[in-house]
Amino acid sequence: MSTTPAPAFPGGTVLGYPRIGRRRELKKAVESFWAGRTDAVDLEVTAGTLRRETVRRLVGLGLNPEDGSVPASFSYYDQVLDVVALLGAVPERFRDLLDAEDGSLELDGYFTVARGRGEDAPLEMTKWFDTNYHYLVPEISETTPISFADHRVVREYAEAKEAGVTTRPVLVGPVTFLALSKAADGAGEGFGPLDRLDDVVAAYADLLRALAAVGAPWVQLDEPALVSDSVDVPTDALDAAVERAYRALATDLARPSGDDDGERPRILVAAPYGDLRTGATDRLALLAGTDVDAIAVDLVKGGVPAGPVAGLETKTLVAGVVDGHGVWRADLSARLDTLEGLAALGAGSVAVGTSTSLLHVPHDVEDETWDGPGAERAGRTPGLRRWLAFADQKVREVATLARGLADGHDAVATELAEAADALADRAAAPGVVVPDVRQRLAGLADGDFARGAHDERAAAQRARLALPPLPTTTIGSFPQTPEIRTARAAWAKGELDDAAYTAAMRAEVERVVRLQEDLGLDVLVHGEPERNDMVQYFAELLDGFATTDLGWVQSYGSRCVRPPILWGDVQRPRPMTVEWASYAQSLTPAPVKGMLTGPVTILAWSFVRDDQPIADTANQVALALRDEVADLEAAGIAVVQVDEPALRELLPLRRADQDEYLRWSVGSFRLATAGAAPATQVHTHLCYSEFGEVVGAIDGLDADVTSLEAARSRMEIVPELADAGYSRGIGPGVYDIHSPRVPSADEVTELLRLAVKSIDPALVWVNPDCGLKTRRYAEVEPALAHLVAAAREVRATL
Ligand code: GLN
Ligand code: ZN
Repeated sequence: MSTTPAPAFPGGTVLGYPRIGRRRELKKAVESFWAGRTDAVDLEVTAGTLRRETVRRLVGLGLNPEDGSVPASFSYYDQVLDVVALLGAVPERFRDLLDAEDGSLELDGYFTVARGRGEDAPLEMTKWFDTNYHYLVPEISETTPISFADHRVVREYAEAKEAGVTTRPVLVGPVTFLALSKAADGAGEGFGPLDRLDDVVAAYADLLRALAAVGAPWVQLDEPALVSDSVDVPTDALDAAVERAYRALATDLARPSGDDDGERPRILVAAPYGDLRTGATDRLALLAGTDVDAIAVDLVKGGVPAGPVAGLETKTLVAGVVDGHGVWRADLSARLDTLEGLAALGAGSVAVGTSTSLLHVPHDVEDETWDGPGAERAGRTPGLRRWLAFADQKVREVATLARGLADGHDAVATELAEAADALADRAAAPGVVVPDVRQRLAGLADGDFARGAHDERAAAQRARLALPPLPTTTIGSFPQTPEIRTARAAWAKGELDDAAYTAAMRAEVERVVRLQEDLGLDVLVHGEPERNDMVQYFAELLDGFATTDLGWVQSYGSRCVRPPILWGDVQRPRPMTVEWASYAQSLTPAPVKGMLTGPVTILAWSFVRDDQPIADTANQVALALRDEVADLEAAGIAVVQVDEPALRELLPLRRADQDEYLRWSVGSFRLATAGAAPATQVHTHLCYSEFGEVVGAIDGLDADVTSLEAARSRMEIVPELADAGYSRGIGPGVYDIHSPRVPSADEVTELLRLAVKSIDPALVWVNPDCGLKTRRYAEVEPALAHLVAAAREVRATL
């Protein structure tokens, strides 16, 4: 271990910045390239402009242009795919895309790996830690090519330098890259991606040499795998990989010192999204024992020890005190106190950072409209603008804290006072605390979370609904046709009046009901034409939420979402869905399912307030939904579905935290649904295929029927549930709606047979994997016809 004094790290930095552009310029440029309207050069020019504007903006907001404070965290699609490209590590089916000479991937090829071509499936996509961002899963085998193939990182460093800014290139670190990879098809028995660690590290070493050669002072390697128990690698193997990787990169390559440029830039290892210490081993100690130069810790989700950490004395601790994942303005005085308290750890120096990349928040609060009737309708309560901090505001917070840490509280007294004032304003603002809501919450008793015995409910529902065995249904939405979108857009702009809009939506509902009757489905839906999005729709109708116009956040690739902001106590001023459900029910004697989004999913896809326990926030939403269920019942609706596709999404990364999460999340679902009468059938829908960690929770939800994604995993979940003693209704998806492919009746029949073989057929429902809103009628009509035919065929054999 070296004893050189701590290298100077920038006083303040952010771990990454949104890359999609303030007006989604990158999205538009990428999509027009895909559509063939522009070529690769056009795209590169737009992206280059965006990158230059970004680094200049970061400097304008207070980051130092000279010392590597400014992160270079751009990506055309995904940061994990970027490492695949860096290494040329594409799966066999895409090898022809690699340049014959240097093994690199052109932009066109890069997007092909992300999106697939013909029969060649793209890399699989999955959730990035506990965020709503999705990355592409690399496929690695013994023979995957791995070298320093792509020099984009070096080129972009030079590009920024030319624009006057010395950046700090940001990459997913080698250990996390491999920990998130899966073994490629055809890899040998017992092979794991981490077996290729030495090759990957050798390629990173070449990259670091190249960065040192162009004078980059710092590089940032993101290693969030170190804070998670959910990666598919045993703890000791991951620890060993960290030691081995950073010995090769940090110890074996000479760091710059004095006049000597060294063989590598200084290395910052970042560990966002959680606590380095609360897993099986203390990975802060592990990292402190390596020769890296700085460690970034997440002090929003995680913590640090109270006393000295061996090895930190030669390093900079980058303290992630500004929340990269939420939108609230920080209490700067409190954060400054935290920063000062870190002296006890004995780090060579302390710098100010964000807890995570700012990728997860929108660009700039100032982009929104804050006055006028539009703002009011969107729930933007007076004052809200001052309580929020999006990416640009957070960069300023970091810069302020860095100044305060260097020069003392007095140096930033004005900023501290302004932040304190905004917080006080928020705490006292109307709507933030609503006494009626608080009282109702405080009065909840255990009984409010429980329905009667399931057998009795099942009997009452059988008598009321009189459904055949293997009842058929859908998950809720029908295709969102261009006509529906046009009508909604016109209505939003005021070009279509309420009456005309309602008439258009009703016509659509009627069409969907008639179609379902013609197809012979048993439990119908209204089709959700009036919903722009399953969370935003409810956020617009509930008090306590605001929606934004430009608050876009990248979800994956070019896809962005606009999460609502939950800022106050939640109340339902009036029924939200009853009109649509009862109109549909008035058209048909078949039961129509009322359709709601559950409390956990509403929270997961919103920015949630940070000033009260999340369980309380969830229960407030649950109570609003509970009232909606009661109104649906009163309108004669016999089946109500409460969707929770995001139930697994918020599952904490550390096993130790998971029980507590399941307690409040499952509890809030039950609170939303437990007011239903025994004869009302409560459905829920979960849509992801890996249920392993939540099988118990599925039972805990106590829904009468649960539909889940199962077609691609060939009904894997059904025997799992049967083994766990599950005894309520279950609708494993038999139609993979993610693909335009129409399954044949035989395929559906086969899947259904698999299901009824492994669980009591009396429990089984027949439905697609998820809603149909992204599909076209040309696919949906034959697919549903096959689904009904398959149900009839298997019914006859029971
Ligand atoms: N009811 C919703 C729909 O059908 C469910 C969507 C989802 O699970 N993501 O669209
Ligand atoms: Zn779904």
